[in-house]
Amino acid sequence: MTYIEKCFKDKGIRITGQRRVLAETLKEAGRAVTARELFREAKAAWPDMNFSTVYRNIQILKDIGLACEIAGSDGNTLYAYRDDEEHHHHMICKGCGKTIPFEFCPIEELKGVFDDAGFVPTGHSFEVYGYCRECSKRRRK
Ligand SMILES: [Zn+2]
Ligand SMILES: [Zn+2]
Ligand SMILES: [Zn+2]
Repeated sequence: MTYIEKCFKDKGIRITGQRRVLAETLKEAGRAVTARELFREAKAAWPDMNFSTVYRNIQILKDIGLACEIAGSDGNTLYAYRDDEEHHHHMICKGCGKTIPFEFCPIEELKGVFDDAGFVPTGHSFEVYGYCRECSKRRRK
């Protein structure tokens, strides 16, 4: 059983052909993509795919831990393949779209700030935009 199949099984979600293709396409992409881009790439392998089901199925991939939702630098929503269960954040390359996960979470450092404000956080997002090693090398040339 592949990791993708296992995630579906563990969460008791039926793995349909479309869902499998979406998860595999996201994995192969190796970068953060919009729902629209994922749709376009997945449609090559599954011509019957339509955009409304893609959107719903991406939410399912997110729920079972196979996809990360990432806020893109221009306010769009991106999705990246996820295969580690630890809470993490991402560096996102503005050149090639590659996402590099890291496990440091700034939220713990801010505990005092929330306590002082009497604020109870229920969720957060934290992404770092920039250029990956390859892209910064390319840009220096
Ligand atoms: Zn991630
Ligand atoms: Zn890059
Ligand atoms: Zn965090």
